[in-house]
Amino acid sequence: MQDVEESRELIEFIRRSPSPFHAVAEVRRRLDAAGFSYLDEGDAWHVEPGGSYYTTRNGSSLVAFSIPADLPAGVHFQMTAAHTDAPTFKLKAVPTLEGPASYVRLDVEAYGGMIDSTWLDRPLGLAGRVLVRDADGRGATSRLFSPDRDLVLIPNVAIHFNREVNKGYAFNRQVDLCPLFSAGELRAGDFDRLVAAELGVEPEAILARELCLVNRQPGRVWGWADEFTSTPKLDDLQCAFASVKALLAAGTPVGHINVCALFDNEEVGSGTKQGALSTFLRDVLVRLCGALGLGQEDYLRALAGSMLVSCDNAHALHPNHPEKHDEANRALLNRGLVVKEAANQKYTTDAFSRAVLRAVCDDAGVPLQTFANRSDSAGGSTLGNLSNEQVSVHAVDVGLPQLAMHSSYETTGTADTALGIAALRAFFSRDVRIRGAEGFELA
Ligand code: ZN
Repeated sequence: MQDVEESRELIEFIRRSPSPFHAVAEVRRRLDAAGFSYLDEGDAWHVEPGGSYYTTRNGSSLVAFSIPADLPAGVHFQMTAAHTDAPTFKLKAVPTLEGPASYVRLDVEAYGGMIDSTWLDRPLGLAGRVLVRDADGRGATSRLFSPDRDLVLIPNVAIHFNREVNKGYAFNRQVDLCPLFSAGELRAGDFDRLVAAELGVEPEAILARELCLVNRQPGRVWGWADEFTSTPKLDDLQCAFASVKALLAAGTPVGHINVCALFDNEEVGSGTKQGALSTFLRDVLVRLCGALGLGQEDYLRALAGSMLVSCDNAHALHPNHPEKHDEANRALLNRGLVVKEAANQKYTTDAFSRAVLRAVCDDAGVPLQTFANRSDSAGGSTLGNLSNEQVSVHAVDVGLPQLAMHSSYETTGTADTALGIAALRAFFSRDVRIRGAEGFELA
C-alpha cells in the first residue's frame, strides 16, 4: 500500500532529524541526491535557467528552488514554507546539576510549548550541534551530534508521594523535569568528556554546544487497518517532508520558480536571523532575481504574481474531545491536507488563496479539508502571516491533520502524508498566473 510506504519513509526522515540541524542535513542529502546545487550565502551566486539550487542559514533553515528552463518575462514564485523545529528541552550552558546524593542530572529549559507529562518515563537521547576547535587551534567547526543511544530519562514521582498526580498536576520545570544522567558512575565534569569522545576530539576542544532532548521512541504505523502513524515531531517535520518530496516530484517547473522554504524557530516566535520573520526568504528571492539578471522592478512584479502555501500541521478531530472543535469546520485523519482559516488573520487564508489551492487540487483529484477554531477559543500562530511581513504575497495556511500536537509523540493518519505530497506537488506543477486580486489562470 502506497500510503504505508510514504509513512514509513516519513518515520525514517524524522528518525534522521533529531534536531533542526539534522533535519536540514537530511534535506540537503536528499536535494544533493536529486541534483540540486548548494549556494553558500557568503559566495557570489551563479544560477542557470533549468537549474535547481538551495541555500541554508544557521544550518537549521533552508530554502530550495527550481528555475524553469525558459525564463518567461514576468516570472513569479510558487512557494511553500514549513518549520524544522519542534518543542523540546534545551541543555543550559553549564549542563549538569550535582546531587542529591551521587545523582547527576541535566539542567534543561523548555524550548516551545510542549505537553510536559509526555516527556517523563521514556528513554531520551541528545542531539544538536557542537562547535569544536580545529586541530591546528586556529579556528573552529560546527559538528552535528546525535549519539544513537538512550542517554537520559525524566522519572515521575511515585504515586505514593504524589496522590494528586491524576487530578491535574502542574509540573515545575525547574524541579520536576530534570533528566537523570547518572546514578554515580559519572560526575558532572564527565559530560563534555563524553561529548568529546563521541566526536573524537579532546574535551578542551569543545567551545560551545546547542543540544536538545530527543524522544527515542521509534515511529510506528499502527491499528488493525494500519490507519495511524505515530512518531515524534510530526509538527512540523511531516509538512517539511511532504513539501520537499513535492518539490522533487514536480521536477523543473514551467513558467514560474518553485521555492521550498524550511524555517527554524517557529515554536519560539520565529524572531531569529533564520526564522520566518527574518530576511532569509526575501534575501534568497532578491539574490535569485539578481543572479538571473532581473532588477528590483522585476522582483516586485514577481511578488505581485506569487503565492505561498504555509504548511504547519492542523488539529484533527479528537476522538475523546469532539467538543473542542467547531462542528462544521473540523478536520479528520486520513482525509488529506487541511486549509486553515481565521478571521483574525493569524492564518493567511482568504477567499483568493483558498480558491487557487482548491482549483489546483480539484484539477489534480486531490482532496482538501477545512479547519477553523471554535469561535470561543483562540488558535495558535504559525509561519504564513509572519513570513508575509518580509515577503508579502498571496498566501494560504494549510497543514496535515494530527492528534496530540506538541506531545513528544504525535499521531496522524497513515494516508495523510501521501495526500499532502500530492496536493503540494499539484501546486508546484501548475503554473498559477495571478492577476492582482482580480483572478487567476492555471496553465
Ligand atoms: Zn507547527
